[in-house]
Amino acid sequence: MKAGDSLFRQVKMLFISAIVVSLFILSLAYSFNDHQGSRDAEASVAPEFAAGPDMQSFMLGAMARGKDISVVNDQGAFYEVAMQGETTTILGSYADIAMQEASPFVEGALNGMTIYVDPGHGGADPGAIVNGDIHESELMLDIGLRLEERLMDEGAFTKLSRRDDSFVDNDDRVADSKKVNAGVFISLHANTYGSSSVHGTEVYFNRDAYPEQSEQLAADIQHTLTEGSSFANRGIRAEELNVIEHPHMPSVLVEIGYMTNGEDLEKLMNGQEDIVARLASGIVRYAEQ
Ligand SMILES: [Zn+2]
Repeated sequence: MKAGDSLFRQVKMLFISAIVVSLFILSLAYSFNDHQGSRDAEASVAPEFAAGPDMQSFMLGAMARGKDISVVNDQGAFYEVAMQGETTTILGSYADIAMQEASPFVEGALNGMTIYVDPGHGGADPGAIVNGDIHESELMLDIGLRLEERLMDEGAFTKLSRRDDSFVDNDDRVADSKKVNAGVFISLHANTYGSSSVHGTEVYFNRDAYPEQSEQLAADIQHTLTEGSSFANRGIRAEELNVIEHPHMPSVLVEIGYMTNGEDLEKLMNGQEDIVARLASGIVRYAEQ
């Protein structure tokens, strides 16, 4: 019982910090709304808090990150897991993520959020191909894996649609994001055009579900990707396409740059750390409203 007590105390502590963090976010949201009447109140609350996730599972999952955890009994939605010599019950999706993440939980601006990162294409579907052998699918996988690291550094939970060059059906990506109860879906792509002079960033969103949140997320990512960067701002666009055709959460599809433009391609191939830092700060900017 002693070990269990200590686990309970740790969870309680994390609970208290979670409540403090959410109250802080809510108070920021309300004070922001006082001054910006045009903002939608719903969009101002971090979606994970608004949607009412299983906070205890999130906290247990957070504690499990980077630790030795194994599933003792798969009960469907919930798993009984062994962690640090104790067994506890946890929402399966959080256990799945915790087991895949090697780094320990950290406090950050994205605590409480699960972010689904979707590197576009993969396997039999390479996406765009330029200069003979540069595949969009490979560039996006590299950026997706780096983005995962950045988001975890901000305290988020992340799930990637693919971690290697394998084919994943678009419907499976969407279903997977629902399964992990993601608060944000971000699909990563790069564009091409017949003329090499066309360049810059476009972020797509869909107004069918979570319209205000998706538009806000699109605007925040568009802003941070292009402000003071070599990527030109080509604007955000409401369009039902690809994995955001039927969104189940605030969702965006980012066309980061044009592979047919020399400067954009150079950045996509060698400027990944700057790109993921900008993507992450766009998501933080969104989450902090
Ligand atoms: Zn694409």
